[in-house]
Amino acid sequence: MERRKRIGLIAHDARKADLLDWATTHSARLAVHELWATGTTGGMIADRLGLSIKRLKSGPLGGDQQMGALIAEGGLDALIFFSDPMSAMPHDVDVKALVRLSTVYNIVMACNRTTADFVISSPLFDAEYAPRDTDYASYLERVVPGSSR
Ligand code: PGA
Repeated sequence: MERRKRIGLIAHDARKADLLDWATTHSARLAVHELWATGTTGGMIADRLGLSIKRLKSGPLGGDQQMGALIAEGGLDALIFFSDPMSAMPHDVDVKALVRLSTVYNIVMACNRTTADFVISSPLFDAEYAPRDTDYASYLERVVPGSSR
């Protein structure tokens, strides 16, 4: 990971005000990094803080999956995802997939404000960092019934 991190920002509707407040508190620290966000979240943060943000589609319209694709392609170092634990989501499977991919690719992930505070306060946030890659070789080399290997 470079010093300049590639950070994804997402908040469910009930948590958008909280994320906006968090981003306002840390706007100077966030400004030097590359920011990505789902559509509505990104629009709110850009309007309020004037930060430069690459906006994906709105989460339920595929934005969460676009964020997941970024992670799978190695394009994201951290995900700040203020999720709403009290509401059923039409795109629940996309939300789960995003959390899962963050784990698979071992990126930084904060799903609540306290964790996000700890993450952004870490000296590693503005430093180079070499995460240990998880070894998926045994999975990739597994014998699948019916395959020619
Ligand atoms: P939104 O998407 O930023 O477009 O509201 C967030 C989500 O619900 O995944």
